[in-house]
Amino acid sequence: MKTVDSIYINGSFETPHGSEVLTLFDPVSEEPATSVVLADEVDARRAIDAAAAAYRELARSSREQRMTWLQRLYQAVAASEEELTAVMVEEYGGPVRTSRATAKRAAASFASARSLLADYPFERQIASARVVMEPLGVVGLITPWNANYGFICSKLSMAIAAGSTAVIKPSELSARQTELLTRVLHRAELPPGLFNIVTGKGDTVGAELVRHPDIAKISFTGSTAVGKSIARGAVDTMKRVTLELGGKSPTILLDDADFAKAMPLAAAAATFNSGQACLAGSRLLVPRSRLHEAHEAIAAAFKNLTVGDPRDEDTCIGPMVTRTQYERVQAYIRRGIDEGGLVLTGGPGRPEECERGYFVRPTVFGNVSNDMAIARDEIFGPVLSVIAYDDEEEAVRIANDTVYGLHAYVFSADLARARRVASRIVAGRVFINGLYDEPVAPFGGFKQSGWGREFGVFGLEQYLEPKALLGYDNIL
Ligand code: NAD
Repeated sequence: MKTVDSIYINGSFETPHGSEVLTLFDPVSEEPATSVVLADEVDARRAIDAAAAAYRELARSSREQRMTWLQRLYQAVAASEEELTAVMVEEYGGPVRTSRATAKRAAASFASARSLLADYPFERQIASARVVMEPLGVVGLITPWNANYGFICSKLSMAIAAGSTAVIKPSELSARQTELLTRVLHRAELPPGLFNIVTGKGDTVGAELVRHPDIAKISFTGSTAVGKSIARGAVDTMKRVTLELGGKSPTILLDDADFAKAMPLAAAAATFNSGQACLAGSRLLVPRSRLHEAHEAIAAAFKNLTVGDPRDEDTCIGPMVTRTQYERVQAYIRRGIDEGGLVLTGGPGRPEECERGYFVRPTVFGNVSNDMAIARDEIFGPVLSVIAYDDEEEAVRIANDTVYGLHAYVFSADLARARRVASRIVAGRVFINGLYDEPVAPFGGFKQSGWGREFGVFGLEQYLEPKALLGYDNIL
């Protein structure tokens, strides 16, 4: 069994003041795997003090200096890609291809922030005013377990590009990945206190970040329920808040779509990262006139997805992260059956080939109406609901009939039609006729999928605040 018993404050690895111990289990063997000593509020306050002291020094750092730091971080993470991948596969159970992509994206976020910083106009003239974009101060970065490296690195890259210092509170379920990533980031030799990493629970370390007057902004990725509590808590000190929350994204197949091409993509959109993805296309909207054909095609596409050992290069879907998550997904599959959903493939229990581990059967429900729980709630597992619509108008109405608005996918043989439908979907990102990765396009949600945007220039500006100087050229 491994032990994680350090946190990172002011450039050094320290023993936490907190003494609560959490045991993490291997999601494949279900054996105890890691013993984590959790940080507490005292540790959080020490990390905030270190970041505040560093901010006083670093707020005036030059663009060139920050670009150098980002380059060093990029090099450190890129050089450790294999090691990072292996630990993500082991601790989280992420399929190796997904895990490798996460490690690559984590490194790339520093390179991308660096090139953004090279050209970003921190000062501009607006009529008679000189407008300067100022960093916010110390930022608190709170991240979930489903792509630990990616979220930490993308948030940190923007904080550094903006000229802020950071206290990072990763998910306690990613303790080993965080420990390794911290060692990797430490190799970049950044000034002490610029970033601090404190693994502890949300209601202790996370809540302290939200409460503390020296934190100017919280950037949070996680569930909508916790996001709401953070927004409420942040109001007392008027913290700026960016929230990247849940989703229940529609994949709309228009009636002219080529199902042979679209269904494998729809299946991939539903099950990416073992279905533990905020952007999962978990509702498949199909024309009623082609319902039977759609049922057969999506079931066949799901049956083609290999479930099993996440270390295997062919695996598409690994185990769920924890027993709790496994049970949550099982409960939704049973609920779908109770609600009258027709199991087209999958169902309750483990796949036959998996004797143990938190594996679930990739499941497609037909006969789903959009008011059923499996169509409304974010399940966060490889479970897809097929919903029939009568015409384009109804497809758009059903797609938008959700409290979420993170993502959508539209497939059609007629590009103009696909674009028209895409323009009517209330979501932060819409993919047309494919699956894409554009790391500088804004990412975030409408409605209860969040506040604000991450990535690219929109992401950077969430860490900046405009200050207008009038009389900038006046000599008295
Ligand atoms: P979660 O909301 O339970 O936890 C996220 C983080 O918040 C963790 O670090 C947790 O310890 C912390 N936290 C919990 N309670 C807190 C509190 N009271 N104050 C401050 N921090 C607190 O989410 P999770 O289970 O780790 O992740 C899954 C969820 O994340 C899903 O709902 C998913 O949709 C969402 N998610 C969203 C995006 C996105 O970009 N929109 C991406 C990935 C995951």
